[in-house]
Amino acid sequence: MASKKLSRATKLVVLPRTAPVAHERVVLPVSERRLSFGDKWSYAPAPEAHNYIQLKPRYQLFIGGKFVAPRSGKYFDSINPATEEKLAEIAEADARDVDLAVKSARRAYKNVWSKMAGRERGKFLYRIARIIQEKSRELAVLETMDGGKTIKESRDIDLPLVAAHFFYYAGWADKLEYAFPGRAAQPLGVAGQIIPWNFPLLMAAWKLAPALACGNTCVLKPAETTSITAMHLAEIFQEAGLPDGVVNIVTGAGETGKALVDHSDVNKIAFTGSTSVGKLLTQAVAGTKKKLTLELGGKAANIIFEDAAIDQAVEGIISGIYFNQGHVCCAGSRLLVQEGVFPAVIRKLRDRIATLRIGNPLDKNTDIGAINSRMQLDKICELVDSGLKQGAELVQSNAKLPAKGYWYPPSFFTGVTASHRIAQEEIFGPVLSVMTFRTPEEAIERANNTPYGLSAGIWTDKGSKIFKIISKLRAGVVWANTYNKFDPTSPFGGYKESGFGREGGRHGLLPYVTLTAP
Ligand code: NAD
Repeated sequence: MASKKLSRATKLVVLPRTAPVAHERVVLPVSERRLSFGDKWSYAPAPEAHNYIQLKPRYQLFIGGKFVAPRSGKYFDSINPATEEKLAEIAEADARDVDLAVKSARRAYKNVWSKMAGRERGKFLYRIARIIQEKSRELAVLETMDGGKTIKESRDIDLPLVAAHFFYYAGWADKLEYAFPGRAAQPLGVAGQIIPWNFPLLMAAWKLAPALACGNTCVLKPAETTSITAMHLAEIFQEAGLPDGVVNIVTGAGETGKALVDHSDVNKIAFTGSTSVGKLLTQAVAGTKKKLTLELGGKAANIIFEDAAIDQAVEGIISGIYFNQGHVCCAGSRLLVQEGVFPAVIRKLRDRIATLRIGNPLDKNTDIGAINSRMQLDKICELVDSGLKQGAELVQSNAKLPAKGYWYPPSFFTGVTASHRIAQEEIFGPVLSVMTFRTPEEAIERANNTPYGLSAGIWTDKGSKIFKIISKLRAGVVWANTYNKFDPTSPFGGYKESGFGREGGRHGLLPYVTLTAP
């Protein structure tokens, strides 16, 4: 029965397209069952309330513990990607503002923070963590409105992890001598921290919490499409009584980030973002004494062996690439399936993506929210077109997309070869590239065959196989029979073009200290 369905489906060859067209979709009518599945199982709307959210019309820079207007006098709009409505104006910091922020951080470092006992620094971090917990519902709604991710994700994953990171590093602040036995850990000074749009608050927590715990002061630059929650975090710092200047936040795009990287009085640059910008930063700090850590892109392989629990594996694949709009550096964007179970996996994947609900990210039943920006949507469309042009076959859910906003339906490619761009480049959208393999050796070779090395997943019934395979995968994180699980105690980071340095866990303290003899 399964093979009959599959052969019927594979006769439906994808329509070739010549140019990338945003919003135009190639929908394969796979089977009658699939087409009607979504309607049958649709739920009544369950929107999260957001009428109590108090957005400011304008968000200023946060320098020296105060909200200040930018020297440039310029502002840019922050858009809700699910509605294309303007949410607020955000200050655009130029080099003069960045200079003020760095000077403020330096003053706070010299006069207050580096002199404070670890247990006192820890108290501030605990206080911040608790206030984040208290405000987590409001922050989750803001995160969803500004970035387009589902409320399920911001409420159940992002915010609990944000608080957990502050709690975790609060605990280390007075225990650095135990983190590095036999060595004395000295703070570096001022850390410039640049973050992307996919986990705005969580990336801020990953950077700020360990830096502060170690006694550094910070200048944070959020991504230009998702700055709002960082400014609400600044209010939390005020409420927690964090001394002025210990954290400064400058908003803006690449030029603002560049001014921070080029500033001569910054001791450390911590960057999370694209590999192309990461390479620019490596050149910019070369020849200086600045320390650098880079958390960059990925093209993770999820490997399903014939002996895996297939339903469980498919569910892991779905949550690893679709539930987050594919906006995760460690998303399992390549699926390697052992040949014997390929038909079953494809059939289950087709059926499952047909049930995914795409739409209002504030609705608690929504599985897939909005793409973060038009630019990102265009990038996804361009890469999908390249897959079609290079001969891969596309299967796409025909779920109805909202008329306004930036959306991409859950999709996967079969007939992908290792040389296709969709097998090598980060799509950063809900699009999966499926390939097959016969032997474990072939799976390892295929999994490692990208410029990236951030993460991977393995699905098998055999513990021995897990240990054999993971030791040969060039990936910083490997999940076995699960995917995308995070915990502040676990280090995270990549190999090759996915960057260097680790965030999270005890390892996450190391980039923010110099170790000397006690
Ligand atoms: P991006 O590199 O375009 O931007 C990231 C940040 O860098 C933004 O704040 C941006 O304003 C800033 N920036 C841009 N140009 C700059 C320059 N010349 N100098 C200094 N700063 C500059 O990336 P993005 O599109 O915002 O984020 C998506 C990327 O981030 C993906 O490639 C994803 O894989 C990666 N990412 C990696 C991790 C990880 O932990 N490895 C986590 C999340 C995202």
